[in-house]
Amino acid sequence: MKILVAVKRVLDYNVKARVNAEGTGIDLANVKMSMNPFDEIAVEEALRIKEAGKADEVIAVSMGVSQSQETIRTALAMGADRGILVETEEELQPLAVAKLLAAIAKREEPGLVIVGKQAIDDDSNQTGQMFAALMDWPQATFASEVEIDGDKMKVTREVDGGLESINVSMPALITTDLRLNEPRYAKLPNIMKAKKKPLDTMTPAELEVDITSRLKVLKVEEPEQRKAGEIVGSVAELVDKLKNEAKVI
Ligand code: AMP
Repeated sequence: MKILVAVKRVLDYNVKARVNAEGTGIDLANVKMSMNPFDEIAVEEALRIKEAGKADEVIAVSMGVSQSQETIRTALAMGADRGILVETEEELQPLAVAKLLAAIAKREEPGLVIVGKQAIDDDSNQTGQMFAALMDWPQATFASEVEIDGDKMKVTREVDGGLESINVSMPALITTDLRLNEPRYAKLPNIMKAKKKPLDTMTPAELEVDITSRLKVLKVEEPEQRKAGEIVGSVAELVDKLKNEAKVI
């Protein structure tokens, strides 16, 4: 069985996002970019499934600018076998990514596709679900535990009320939640080895996918600064402030 893992290049989670001078998006000039944290979890899970003898190959896929190669190389250094970059300078929305992933899945015929539950830049939480719908595959979103048995899979999901367990048949899609595993670090020798692993590059046109945006960003602005809090001396003072200053009661 092949496992396809989607890895997105995003602003590193330690970097504070700043709106660019034009107010059209986030300033990405000279800032650290990394693999989306939920995708590191996706790669780790795919590797664990392969190491347990339940998969033969792990393929890391990324869509975006040519520097996304670095993100794929990180996945290869963690242990993925090969990479595919769908290269474009266009801004990609979840539907376009889902269509590109579906086009690759049709070529590669994986038994499992693992993506993050959300990308920390757009926070959409849509790509996996859209992909499953396009492929007409079962989906197990927000996975915190995965057990594979033949072509069946038991997935524990993190839902609002706690945990839910579902059984799905493969091929299927999983989106990873934070508690699924703790991703490994790539060791130096593996980083060197990863440079020699195969990485194919293709374009959306070659995959015959229309990536035209359906959404238009009108303006991006920083959230309003929050006012500092205040400690009041008594309940009476609190009530007074709520009544006369905040005017909420
Ligand atoms: P989103 O729906 O944008 O929150 O993204 C959910 C997941 O889809 C991410 O965690 C990635 O696994 C995958 N994904 C989204 N955009 C891309 C991209 N440009 N390249 C690779 N994977 C992506």
